[in-house]
Amino acid sequence: MAASTTTNPITTPPTFQPHRHYRKKDKIVVIMGATGTGKSRLSVDLATRYFPSEIINSDKMQVYKGLDITTNKISLHERQNIPHHFLGELNSQDGELTPLEFRHLAHLTISDIVSRKRTPFIVGGSNSFIYSLLVEEYNPRFDALDASNSVSSSLRYNCCFLWVDSSLPVLYEYLDKRVDEMFETGMFEELEEYFRESEELKYCVNSVSRSGLRKAIGLPEFERYFREYPAEEVESLTGKGGWDQVRRGVYEEAVRQIKENTRQLAKGQIGKIKKLRDGGWDLRRLDATATFTALMTCKNKGEDWRSVWEKQVLEPSVKIVKRFLEE
Ligand code: ATP
Repeated sequence: MAASTTTNPITTPPTFQPHRHYRKKDKIVVIMGATGTGKSRLSVDLATRYFPSEIINSDKMQVYKGLDITTNKISLHERQNIPHHFLGELNSQDGELTPLEFRHLAHLTISDIVSRKRTPFIVGGSNSFIYSLLVEEYNPRFDALDASNSVSSSLRYNCCFLWVDSSLPVLYEYLDKRVDEMFETGMFEELEEYFRESEELKYCVNSVSRSGLRKAIGLPEFERYFREYPAEEVESLTGKGGWDQVRRGVYEEAVRQIKENTRQLAKGQIGKIKKLRDGGWDLRRLDATATFTALMTCKNKGEDWRSVWEKQVLEPSVKIVKRFLEE
């Protein structure tokens, strides 16, 4: 019987039958890096000048409304009309967005962006969110990024990874300066308002302890300050000249802790990124150290660091993404 089947002249030639569930993986660009390394800047540069794309934020604190300075959200002006998803969209009092929820929601957004023939850019420093979103199989009860566990390199998208990095001592110095600048641009007043509102909400069941933002660097550090000097009694920064030494000391200690915790955050994030790289993720490292050095030393801050950035980070990124999208 078998022989007659193979010689039968009217047998339809075998055609390639793709597996029923086979589907080409969507292409996405993932911009990783520690806090402060310029991921947002890179994503907007790429999106405005080179690739039609939309940005999905993957910073777990920036998904919430409020505390824009404290959590370092990119401003509306800096977004340059590029659509940003999951940026300041959720109400922090509704609880915390889990990596599993982010996985589901961001997946739908990716499909939507791709259906509109644009490239999704995933941009943000929360590696737990990035990991949960990208891996083929995700187990929320297993912390793959923990030092003693192993990561999966089986991914459900076709990913181009850009990793913006910097030498740690230079990044630390830059982050310290960034904290000072955040206070100059109103971080203290923002925290003051947050603590005042939290005080008013204290009587709503669990509203503060459930808040997704409660762990944002800046809040735990300033808790002691606002406990001792409740927000409603506080005059704005302009009144600081009249503070006694104790009060000034409590304030300065909080700022010092913010700087220290920001450094620790950056160090931890870089550790997790290296773990992913060592676990088989094909990360392309872009060294932004010279940009930070230029940014901190240039008298004319504007132009000089920008040209270093373009040479060291933007141009290589454009080449990598171009090649990836053309493949
Ligand atoms: P972890 O498992 O440690 O939470 P992760 O990868 O999920 O790590 P990270 O982005 O490393 O998330 O954030 C860790 C912590 O750092 C947050 O819980 C928060 O305390 C702080 N943090 C992260 N991003 C910000 C931000 N934009 N503003 C203020 N604090 C932040």
